[in-house]
Amino acid sequence: RTVFVNGEYLPETEAKVSIFDRGFLMADGVYEVTSVLGGKLIDFEGHAKRLERSLNELDMQKPEEFDDLLDIHRKLVELNGIEEGMIYLQITRGAPDDRDFVFPDPEATRPTLVLFTQNKPGLAANPVADKGIKVISIEDIRWGRRDIKTVQLLYPSMGKMMAKKAGCDDAWMVEDGYVTEGTSNNAYIVKDGKIITRGLSNDILHGITRAAVLRFAQEAQMEVVERPYTIEEAQAADEAFVTSASTFVMPVVEIDGAAVGDGQVGPVAKRLREIYLDESLKTAI
Ligand code: PMP
Repeated sequence: RTVFVNGEYLPETEAKVSIFDRGFLMADGVYEVTSVLGGKLIDFEGHAKRLERSLNELDMQKPEEFDDLLDIHRKLVELNGIEEGMIYLQITRGAPDDRDFVFPDPEATRPTLVLFTQNKPGLAANPVADKGIKVISIEDIRWGRRDIKTVQLLYPSMGKMMAKKAGCDDAWMVEDGYVTEGTSNNAYIVKDGKIITRGLSNDILHGITRAAVLRFAQEAQMEVVERPYTIEEAQAADEAFVTSASTFVMPVVEIDGAAVGDGQVGPVAKRLREIYLDESLKTAI
């Protein structure tokens, strides 16, 4: 696989990042994951905008290749022959000469930019979406700026492991009694035809897939309500689902051992997945 590191396309075995990189030492970095369908990038603009916002919020400088990111994504898709899959992009504050909590002088330390592809044939026709996934609930103990897409993913990883141990697929995180989001996705319930999801704030990541799905839902005359909800309300809902760039719309059929609705994939989640795949392909670049 060919990867991109600091201005160079290299075989993955030759790509190197310093041990002093602040991404490695301090999780001082941000990332994006963009999906590829039919060899094209889904919602690239949305991901690029959010990346810029993450950098701004952390006072991190843009890498010099920032304006060429679309070309770099496309070139990696081509070089690696990706028809369906993902592109992972990470920017860190770079590698100063020593470890220090103080941010390095941006004149002396350039950010580190890394991109690589992940080949995932069958991403769109994922059979898991026909069955749905099971989730557990866990306390949300992450930091207070979840709107910034940082590489601090230890707790979400632990959440996935807790889910696995419980025989489930993922975890929904709960703060002050209300669901924030999934470990790597935004969370929704459906009740009496209404799609309910927590509103945007610093408490959750502003999902690019979320924005697109809510827009498509409204265009299809479905009612969308942005408000918090509890696990009990979710268990009593007609349907539940999650969204992310890598899973699109994924139905949730069980929460903490309780079946949601009849425990099968519901019509709203199914339809939203179809609409999302159709519509997002139309604007893929
Ligand atoms: N919330 C969290 C915590 C996530 O990690 C992700 C995916 N990275 C999302 C939501 C979904 O965001 P997107 O639709 O932009 O992939």
